[in-house]
Amino acid sequence: MMSTNQVNYLDAVVLGAGFSGLYMLHSLREAGFTTRVYEAGDGVGGVWYWNRYPGARCDIESIYYNYSFSKELYQEWTWTSRFPEQPEILRYLNFVADKFDLRRDIQFNTRISAVHYDETSNRWKVQMNDGTSVTAKYFISGAGCLSAANLPKFNGLESFKGEWYHTGKWPQEKVDFKGKRVGVIGTGSSGVQAIPVIAKEADHLTVFQRTPQYTMPARNHPYASEFINQTKANFNEIKRQMRESPTGNGIQIRTISALSDPPEKRHQVYEKAWEEGGYALTSAYYDLFINEEANHTAADFIRSKIKEIVRNPEIAEKLLPNYYFGTKRPILDTDYYETFNRENVTLVDVKKAPIVEITPKGLRTKEMEYELDILIFATGYDGLTGPLFKIDIRGKDGVSLKEKWKEGSMVRTYLGLATAGFPNFFMITGPESPSVLVNMPTAIEQHVEWITDCLDYLREHNVEIFETTVEAEEAWSKHCREVAEMTLYVKTDSWYTGANIAGKPRSFLIYLGGFDTYKHKCNEVAASGYNGFTLSIKDVLSEKGSI
Ligand code: NAP
Repeated sequence: MMSTNQVNYLDAVVLGAGFSGLYMLHSLREAGFTTRVYEAGDGVGGVWYWNRYPGARCDIESIYYNYSFSKELYQEWTWTSRFPEQPEILRYLNFVADKFDLRRDIQFNTRISAVHYDETSNRWKVQMNDGTSVTAKYFISGAGCLSAANLPKFNGLESFKGEWYHTGKWPQEKVDFKGKRVGVIGTGSSGVQAIPVIAKEADHLTVFQRTPQYTMPARNHPYASEFINQTKANFNEIKRQMRESPTGNGIQIRTISALSDPPEKRHQVYEKAWEEGGYALTSAYYDLFINEEANHTAADFIRSKIKEIVRNPEIAEKLLPNYYFGTKRPILDTDYYETFNRENVTLVDVKKAPIVEITPKGLRTKEMEYELDILIFATGYDGLTGPLFKIDIRGKDGVSLKEKWKEGSMVRTYLGLATAGFPNFFMITGPESPSVLVNMPTAIEQHVEWITDCLDYLREHNVEIFETTVEAEEAWSKHCREVAEMTLYVKTDSWYTGANIAGKPRSFLIYLGGFDTYKHKCNEVAASGYNGFTLSIKDVLSEKGSI
């Protein structure tokens, strides 16, 4: 069952029925707020609803890639393997929606197109693409960080006679690759996961690679029932690891420097991590992403692995990455490099010979035309701000979020949760929060619980308008940038820095200080009565929580 009945007023409107929107709805409903989620898709799942491409799989271990707010839920759901596949995560989120009876307050097939703040009533007017609208005291975005697909402008796409798809908007029906000549543009996480699976089915696969990536074996395997029983029995410890660690998951980063081990010992450490799979290698030493020399040791190791795995030295050479390891998201794969040993796979370097156009028959680079039946864009997303910019969000004085964040080419938020000039507006895992560089479900739960506690406080104290101050957001944004500048992340062009989108201002919009530190800061703000925010009780303005 899903909600379609028209409502006029809600305490809170939540955008999106992914991990964020589902828990936000549950949490606010439990706290007694009238809430509705609006979702463009016809089902729950968010990013896991849209990303149905072959091989789609999470890179965080299943037992941590879930909610921890309900012990009962944790006991009732059983993951089947170490790294969950997209269909299994989608089943999990449907299970959550059913268990907590969430669908009755979710309106599917409805895209929020505009959200305007009315200063006379202190309410948000939320406009849907079907012409309906609703008024709400609070507007909460659960749009996620990676929901605005990036389809680069290639001349001639409309002339292409074959089928084409973007990994982030994959159809619900199976795409049949049998007997087909398939091309994939892009070798980020999505491309690297899809390529080995498509290669096994297609007649021929051509991979158009611009930047070779560092990818490590996931070493996925089914979970033994004893292991599952053990994790369920250890729920409290798993929850603690999720909620009180720097990464929000079970990954422990070793506290020694890569440079403190002699080369032979270091090699053994990397070999062991490579065999263990997952992100063992990224956490082998604490300084891999802050020290150039340390970084080189891991990068050299992975390059040596590529040369070992790929039999043709020319192809291996093309696959060797040469940016700072980990500064684009490190990837976990299943047989990615091995795929380039197959007879039916061709690797094309489009940095050397750029794509010129899409033709009716396929794709033309500066060197030649490739005939294709199916073309796949694994070209990523306009991350972090892109999902918010898809909606016409306007705060005080009719200023749009897009205008505000364009000015001076800089995004400004306080804690990644709020932004000045947009009262009663919250972003779950917004720009300048830890978001995608920690375990997303953990980051989401922390924001949902902080927002729920905040709304509870505002209700208890009769607060009408809750808005962060310009000073608080300036200070937070500056702090975020300073932390990022201490790392190697800022030295690489990536979607983290906005460099993947033409014309997008370049800045690093993820807080890198660690999830535990960040959570502590958010808790301090709440405990202080919301320092850094202005709280207005009816007509009386009160600065920084002194109400
Ligand atoms: P991505 O990492 O941004 O990769 C996009 C790829 O497309 C890159 O190889 C990029 O090359 C290439 N590309 C873009 N525009 C191009 C153009 N005009 N011509 C040629 N090549 C072009 O995107 P993604 O793979 O979708 O991954 C995005 C993020 O989603 C990941 O970093 C991760 O956070 C998340 N994700 C996670 C999983 C998982 O959990 N396992 C799976 C999928 C996605 P350049 O590098 O040269 O720009």
